[in-house]
Amino acid sequence: MYWNQDLETMSPEALSALQLGRLRRTLFQAVESPHYSKVFAENGVKPDRIETIADVHRLPYTTKEDLRDQFPYGLLCVDQKEIIRLHSSSGTSGQATVVFHSRSDIENWADLVSRCMYMTGVRQDDVFQNLTGYGLFTGGLGFHYGGERLGTLTIPSGTGNTKRQILLMQQFGTTVIHLIPSYAMRLMQVMEDMGVNPRRDLKLRIAFLGAEPHSEEIRQRVERYFGVEAFNSYGLSEMNGPGVAFECPEKEGMHIWEDAFLVEIIDPDTLEPLPPGEEGELVLTTLSREAMPIIRYRTNDLTRILPGKCRCGRVHSRLDRIIGRTDDMLIIKGVNIFPVQVEQALMEIPEVGQNYLIILERVDEMDTMRLQVEMRADIFQEDMRHLKKLQNKITRELRNELLVTPKVELVQPNTLPRSQGKAVRVEDRRK
Ligand code: ADP
Ligand code: ZN
Repeated sequence: MYWNQDLETMSPEALSALQLGRLRRTLFQAVESPHYSKVFAENGVKPDRIETIADVHRLPYTTKEDLRDQFPYGLLCVDQKEIIRLHSSSGTSGQATVVFHSRSDIENWADLVSRCMYMTGVRQDDVFQNLTGYGLFTGGLGFHYGGERLGTLTIPSGTGNTKRQILLMQQFGTTVIHLIPSYAMRLMQVMEDMGVNPRRDLKLRIAFLGAEPHSEEIRQRVERYFGVEAFNSYGLSEMNGPGVAFECPEKEGMHIWEDAFLVEIIDPDTLEPLPPGEEGELVLTTLSREAMPIIRYRTNDLTRILPGKCRCGRVHSRLDRIIGRTDDMLIIKGVNIFPVQVEQALMEIPEVGQNYLIILERVDEMDTMRLQVEMRADIFQEDMRHLKKLQNKITRELRNELLVTPKVELVQPNTLPRSQGKAVRVEDRRK
């Protein structure tokens, strides 16, 4: 069994001291790469001049652009024979980037994921089914090795073939699942269509939801439908993948493993650091990576650090639910909206089904939002007047929540397009 009580409940002073030592070691390592040796020289960065954790604010940022420009080997700090694996981002927003791992990187990563799983109550006698893509995407292998490190039976079922997934759950008595939220909604729909009642027919007790922005309402739907405790899992391939920040049983923010990552929140416009409680862009520095350390990486993800201590006793800071990426923000009639806000408002309406699509259009020189919403199948047995009333109700609730009035269309279950990997929530037809 695996968890690290020393690292998770150490005093804040001891944690800072540990971070400082690891930060310095990381900087000495980073300078071995073509990229950082150049950037450090240009910015006068001297690893031995770092005396406190606050000195991190003097270091230059690393952006996704840097990773693309340096593709593939520009950030590599070790000999090619030391690296044993590479992963690549899903390329959700542009050309993919690559991250290389040494053997110790891979082992540290497995430790981090197993700590996350252990924290939520997974033990050796659980059966863990990993319903995420194996391959370049980090969610599959990342969780796979985490599950094995913990010692739980780990089923590498991957994505798709939903009926078979359900069969595996029945045959092996799966108790823990990991999947992206949009696939959880799909799984729900298929179980409903098949007449499988997970609360009655399966043994599920824990679900990990990660890799894409999702609302609190989605978590609650997953918990209610599958009869599980669902935990939010945050990670990105530049920082390994899953295992960066994860909810504990208190479910009030995701503990970010500060022994492995240095966390900052900055104002994305002024680039100034922001204090706990304030929302901004998440910036992360790897503290224990060998092959490819990354310094002050601008994740583009918007969140905040929750002030105060967690009741669970862990000292590591907590990230609030990710609102989205800086470039996910929609501006409709002067109002800023993130897709998860639309989702939250929609999913609170009980008649709403498992999928939705936001369509942006230009009508009479104005940006407008059209929303296609999959409804529960039984809704369509009602007459037209009833459907019209429902449509008005949804429009009203969205307007109250978002302060703009979308054009709402109710559609049958299983009719909206579904992506292979992460859900595409917005279709921009303005160009
Ligand atoms: P890509 O950037 O191509 O999607 P990754 O697979 O590395 O590549 O995805 C990492 C990104 O996924 C994060 O930067 C973040 O935007 C999103 N993400 C991951 N986990 C979560 C989560 N729990 N909640 C919201 N967004 C998440
Ligand atoms: Zn906690």
